[in-house]
Amino acid sequence: MADLHGLQRAVAGVHAGKLAGDLAGYLESDPAGDLPGHLRGLFPVLAQHVNGAPLAYLDNAATTQTPLPVLDAMRDFELHERANIHRGVHTLSQRATNAFDRAREVLKRFVGAGPAHELVFTSGTTDALNQVAHGLSTAGAGPALLRPGDQIVVSGLEHHANLVPWQQAARRCGATLRILLPDAQGRLHAEDLKRLLTPRTRIFALTACANATGERPPYETLLALAASAGALTVLDAAQAMGHEVPDFGALACDFMAFSGHKMYGPMGTGALVGRRAALERLVPLRYGGDMVAWVTYADASFADLPARLEGGTPNVAGAVGLAAAAAFIDRVGRSRIDVHVRALRAHAASGLAAIDGVTVLSPATGSAGASAIVSFVAEGVHPHDIGTLLDEQGIAVRTGHHCAQPLTDHLGLGPTTRASFALYNTHDEVERLLAGVARATKVLR
Ligand code: PLP
Repeated sequence: MADLHGLQRAVAGVHAGKLAGDLAGYLESDPAGDLPGHLRGLFPVLAQHVNGAPLAYLDNAATTQTPLPVLDAMRDFELHERANIHRGVHTLSQRATNAFDRAREVLKRFVGAGPAHELVFTSGTTDALNQVAHGLSTAGAGPALLRPGDQIVVSGLEHHANLVPWQQAARRCGATLRILLPDAQGRLHAEDLKRLLTPRTRIFALTACANATGERPPYETLLALAASAGALTVLDAAQAMGHEVPDFGALACDFMAFSGHKMYGPMGTGALVGRRAALERLVPLRYGGDMVAWVTYADASFADLPARLEGGTPNVAGAVGLAAAAAFIDRVGRSRIDVHVRALRAHAASGLAAIDGVTVLSPATGSAGASAIVSFVAEGVHPHDIGTLLDEQGIAVRTGHHCAQPLTDHLGLGPTTRASFALYNTHDEVERLLAGVARATKVLR
């Protein structure tokens, strides 16, 4: 087993640059070790007490914590390379440009993007999905792709970020929005999608994992069905990237969106990955510096991808941190993280289901797919009260509609309590969650 000195030094505030080496040392000396093991020490924020109890951070579907090697990469950029990109002939600007370009290449490899694909930096999933919905429903040099009478199909599992932009796009173009509704257990079925698809279906938008329920739909099959019917396909990968990274190159997918802060990276970062031919069809949302080729007082012509969709000064340190987060996930091992978070989810789901009056949403997810989320309701107890009681014991969960109000309404459930897991969580923390929920349901009912 690796020794703990590196982590102890880091937590004590010694320069974090050493940590990348410590991480490599740990992984090489214990490549198959159980998670979280020593890796938990790379997340100093977890080593605190909240309300007198050790913090059990189980709100990872909202935001994961960021490890020291990622912070270190951003800090190194800020300390040694910070300058505006693309515009400067000076050395620092060129180094910053190189760092930004390298980050893009790392992320393209991470998601399996090939030569026919491109990656555009965004401020997150919401930004990426809005760029797609806006870009396909707005007239540019030619008419908008979406026309009156066209159809947009969106799954009923979506976060508001992959629904509301499509509502607006449909309104703008006179297109019709159709919802692929889940069954009573919150699952999507290929047969239902087949019934919805028509020759006028232009767009199919789907999540890789429903943030409100933890349901992992068979997105490979559903995307392929929609693509074979001639639709452009959009995958919201926000909840998958931290453990089950979709292989973009292997999917029948035109656009995929994700956020850095849900994959151990910085907040306010993310990306839109797309087939180049599909990205070319997007009318830019942001006009200004860096995205133009030539400008006169009267008109402008636009740069090639990816710059065309990256108007303005980007978050370069954020891009560097996002690439470092991808490298961190790969260094730890995607499948290792996936196995770990699914085991925690299965432990929590079976334990919660055994508590009197508790109903777990999408209970079979753990066996059918790869989800790190468990969402539940307790008869006669408001989720907000459960969340508050858990917080008093240092356990952080999320309560409410999880920005998926139509879904929780459709399932007839209203707000829920959601626990979500990351590589640093432990089975002891799941036991604390179960004890906390059992106590809360007794006290509050
Ligand atoms: N899509 C899903 C499935 C999400 O879970 C979230 C955030 O919770 C989003 C989109 C929006 O992500 P962001 O707020 O990072 O843009």
